[in-house]
Amino acid sequence: MNEKYIDLLHQTTQYSINYIKNIDTMEVFPKSLKELNHLEQKLPQKGFEAKEVIQFLNHIGANTTTAMPGGRYYGFVNGGLLPVAHAAQWLTDTWNQSSALYAMSPFTSKLEEICEMWLVELLGLQQGTAAGFVTGSSNAILCALAAARNTLYQKQGYDIIQKGMKNAPQIKVVFSEDIHSTVKSALTILGFGQEDMIMIPTNEYGIIDLKYMPTLDSKTLVIIQAGNVNGGTFDSIDEICNLANKAGAWIHIDGAFGLWAAASKKQKHWTEGIEKADSCSTDAHKTLNAGYDCGIVFCKHRKALTSALMTNGAYIPYGEQRDNMLYTTEMSRRARSIAVWAVLKHLGKEGVEQLIDSLCDYAEYFAQKLVKCGFHLVIPVCFNQFLIQCDTDENTKKVLQIVQNSGVCWCGESIWKGKTVIRISICSHATTYEDIDKSVSVFQKAIHQIKQ
Ligand SMILES: *Cc1c(COP(=O)(O)O)cnc(C)c1O
Repeated sequence: MNEKYIDLLHQTTQYSINYIKNIDTMEVFPKSLKELNHLEQKLPQKGFEAKEVIQFLNHIGANTTTAMPGGRYYGFVNGGLLPVAHAAQWLTDTWNQSSALYAMSPFTSKLEEICEMWLVELLGLQQGTAAGFVTGSSNAILCALAAARNTLYQKQGYDIIQKGMKNAPQIKVVFSEDIHSTVKSALTILGFGQEDMIMIPTNEYGIIDLKYMPTLDSKTLVIIQAGNVNGGTFDSIDEICNLANKAGAWIHIDGAFGLWAAASKKQKHWTEGIEKADSCSTDAHKTLNAGYDCGIVFCKHRKALTSALMTNGAYIPYGEQRDNMLYTTEMSRRARSIAVWAVLKHLGKEGVEQLIDSLCDYAEYFAQKLVKCGFHLVIPVCFNQFLIQCDTDENTKKVLQIVQNSGVCWCGESIWKGKTVIRISICSHATTYEDIDKSVSVFQKAIHQIKQ
């Protein structure tokens, strides 16, 4: 292989090492984005040397990226990057496997098969449940709901693949008013309109209030959450799954970060009953810290999933072995299962449990410290995250502004039951008690500052 290529890889390795070495001291959210202006250049007529391109890219990126692999990024609901995942992603890039078919890459077909089996065991799903490795939960939800829609129509003797949507019987879609926006996008893409949807009111914890649960039947698609994106809270999974199963409805669980509770003895009471769902979705790039991009769709009815997503083409040689493309909306794609496999092999069941438990412990510790500083904890800490506020929306926003500009840590704003809140989500393996103490002192200073 040519020397320039090898040099380039050495150089890039060094850049990556430097970045990781600096991660604890860099500004969590860059205070200045001036460097980004250097990107405003015309598309070059003549190209540049790879070495030069990467050097320039690294200069900009190292100075303007958000410190997400570090321990003090608590924004949205993201995920960290375990060293083993980082290394596995490097190999993934080096190998550049198109993972559509067994005929292309037997290695990645085998890995997906093994990951599917391991994850089903880890999360306690029903044996034989199918898993597809997609970009993230947005896509996982889309895949699962496509299977749900087609199956519900089929039960009514309506073949959607043949006949399309125009004369389709109505399917009722039932979900909580706190459902994640990506569920609504998936429903719209799949041809459902507002008139097909019933939104169930949630209680003070942001979970479905069972007394408003409508009557379900075999023409109903129910979508619930394992982990409210704001409060971290879980719908009453077991109870709602029982209702759905009895009625012959399809039930999907959006567990983008919360589904992982099932792998912890301390937390699994939240996810009790998940094996009763027809489908669920999660992210390996959030709680599992496997790195972007990796979502997973699980479907108890393998055929329903693959028939909803299958691409036909005379040139495609489907085989006896697993063809990964059957489980996703994509054909050519990155071999996402490599990092998932590496993380599961590295952590084992015990390590995954420790990771989850530590995220939850940190969330509790963080919340208690902030309460001592005078912040109001909106609802009890649930799983890995919590919401705080000041006496007024205005003060909450002021504190958040100071925290966001501090460079020490970063968290975001949200609205909870009509009021402004600060959401703190502990998602990274890299977080330590020291990180939290450092972050708390920023909050403490902020609250003093606004009271002056
Ligand atoms: C993050 C999240 C999603 C969307 O997942 P992506 O991986 O960003 O596509 C959906 N639902 C919930 C509850 C989430 O937290």
